[in-house]
Amino acid sequence: MSTAHEGEGALGELLDPELPAATYVLEPDVVEPLTRRIVTSHTAGTHRSTLPFTGAPLAAFPLSSPDDVADAARRARAAQGEWSRTPLRDRTAVLDRLGALVLDRQSEILDLIQMESGKARRSAFEEVADVAMACRHYAVRGAGYLGERRVPGMLPLLTGVRVHRRPVGVVGAIAPWNYPLSLVLSEAVPALLAGNAVVLKPDPQTTLSALWVAELLQEAGLPDDLFLVVAGGGDVGAALVDHVDHVAFTGSTATGRTVAARAGERLIGTTLELGGKNPLYVAADADLDSAVPGVVRACFANAGQLCMSIERLVLHERIADEFLERFTVAVRDLVLGSGLDYTADVGSLVSAAQLERVTRHVDDALAKGARALVGGVHRSDVGPYFYAPTVLDDVPDDAECVREETFGPVVAVTRVTSDDEAVRVMNDTEFGLNASIWSADVARARRLAARVRSGTVVINDGYASAWGSAAAPMGGFKASGQGRRHGREGVEAVTEVQTVAVQRGARFGLSLDTLYALGGETPSRVLSVALRAMRRLRLP
Ligand code: NAD
Repeated sequence: MSTAHEGEGALGELLDPELPAATYVLEPDVVEPLTRRIVTSHTAGTHRSTLPFTGAPLAAFPLSSPDDVADAARRARAAQGEWSRTPLRDRTAVLDRLGALVLDRQSEILDLIQMESGKARRSAFEEVADVAMACRHYAVRGAGYLGERRVPGMLPLLTGVRVHRRPVGVVGAIAPWNYPLSLVLSEAVPALLAGNAVVLKPDPQTTLSALWVAELLQEAGLPDDLFLVVAGGGDVGAALVDHVDHVAFTGSTATGRTVAARAGERLIGTTLELGGKNPLYVAADADLDSAVPGVVRACFANAGQLCMSIERLVLHERIADEFLERFTVAVRDLVLGSGLDYTADVGSLVSAAQLERVTRHVDDALAKGARALVGGVHRSDVGPYFYAPTVLDDVPDDAECVREETFGPVVAVTRVTSDDEAVRVMNDTEFGLNASIWSADVARARRLAARVRSGTVVINDGYASAWGSAAAPMGGFKASGQGRRHGREGVEAVTEVQTVAVQRGARFGLSLDTLYALGGETPSRVLSVALRAMRRLRLP
C-alpha cells in the first residue's frame, strides 16, 4: 500500500501539518483500484473516512444505495449456483491460496488496517495470523465438515439415508470496524468453502480493508461476483438483511437485536457475534510472573476494542495487592504510538465517538467515587483519539462501566474472598462472550470454567488461545450472541442440512406400498412385530 508520502516511518512524519484539511492521506490513485470494487450506482453519496492517528481525512469513496444492495445480492445469487457445483477441492484451493497470499502481502494490509482503525501494528498482525490460521484450518478440515453422513434408516437394510450439507445460497456478512480483516473473513471463509456467495457490508471506516480482501480473493482464484462489497452504514446493512439467505452479523448487542428481528421475519438464519463485559479471575494460587504480562495483553490489546477484551478484573484478596502493584507498573510502561511499525504497544481509539464513550465511562466512575490506579486521561499529546490504558479500583455498583461494555482500554477491579464468589461475580452480567481464569491448578480452573456462563473460557491466557484455535467454536452465551463461528460450527452455520432417504427394498418388491397392499390390520401388525424386534436388538 503506497501512501501520499511513501516510505516514511511514523504517521507523525507521514503527514505534513501544513497540508490543507481536504488533502487525503491516501492518494486517489491508490484508493481507486480498491473503491471501484464497491457495488454502487453512484447515487447514494460519498463517504469520507478519517485517519484515527491524526484526525485527517483518509479517503473518500462512493456509497451503495438499497437498489445497489439488491443488485449485489442478485449478482451473487447468479454466480453461486456454479460455484456450489465446483468440486470442493477447487474451492478449497482458493482459500488455501488466500491464506498464503495474506501472509505474503501482509505489509500492505497491516498499513491499511492501522490507517483505518488506528490500532498498533502488533494488534493488526493478530488479524493476519487469524486469517492464515482460518484458511489453513478449513483447507485441511473443510472436506470432513462438509462430507455426507450415513445414518441408520427407518428399516434396517431396506432404507438408506444420507445427510448432506448444502450451501444456504447468499450469505450477508455485516462487520464492525475493530478487526477490519479478521471479521470480514471469519464467516466468509467457511461460507465460500461450503459453496455460498458472500455479500459483505463492512463498517464505513474500514471499507478499504474489506475491498483489499476482495482484491486478494480474486487473485487467489475466486470467480467473479462470489464476494461482493457494498458500502455504507446501518441503512445499507438493513437492506442487506432483506436480500440474503443467512446473515452473519458482528457488532453491538443493540444492533444485533434489530438484525435478528428482521431476519426472524424473513425466516432466515443468523449468526450473531455481539458485545461482552468479559471477566478475568486471578486465583490465589496463580503464578503472577506470567499472569501480569498476560493480563496486560488481555485488557489492552487493540486498545481494548476487542470483543473478547477483559473489562472486569476479579482478584482473590490474597494476591490482589501484590498483583495490582506489579500490574499497574506494567500498564504504565505500555508505549502508545501511531507508527506504521512495531514500536507501539497500544494504538489509538478508532474515532471521536469511541473516545467519547471511554471518557464518559471513566469520568462517571471517578465522579461516583472510583479511583484510577493508572491512566484515566485522554492522551491528546499522542493523537486526537488516544486514551491512556486505565485501571479503576473501588468502582461503585451504579457506575455505567460496571454493566455496560466500554470497548476501550479500561478495566475495573473487584476483590473476592473465594472461588465461589469469583464465579458469582463473573456471571453477574447480561453478557457471556469470553472469560479468563488464572490458576496454577488447571484441573481446578477447569471445574470453575464449567460454572462460568460464557462462550469461551480461557485458562492462563486472556483470549488468543481460544480465538486462535480455528477448530474450536467461538461465540457468546446470553446477550453476547447466537450461533458460532470457527470450526465445524462455522460451516454448519452457513449450510442447510438435507436428508436424502432411499427406499431400497422397492427393487425387490419390498416397499412400504407392498406392506400397505396387504390391507386391513395386517400392515400394523407386521410393523409392530418389526418395531418390537428392533427394540430388543437395540437398533437406533
Ligand atoms: P454496530 O452494531 O454499531 O455496527 C456493526 C455493523 O452493523 C456496522 O457495519 C454497522 O454499519 C452495521 N449496522 C448498524 N446498524 C445496522 C442495522 N440496523 N442493520 C444492519 N446493520 C447495521 O457495532 P460497532 O460499534 O461498530 O462495533 C462494536 C461492537 O461490536 C461491540 O459491541 C463489540 O463487542 C462487538 N463485536 C463483537 C464481536 C464478536 O465476535 N462477538 C467481534 C467484534 C466486535
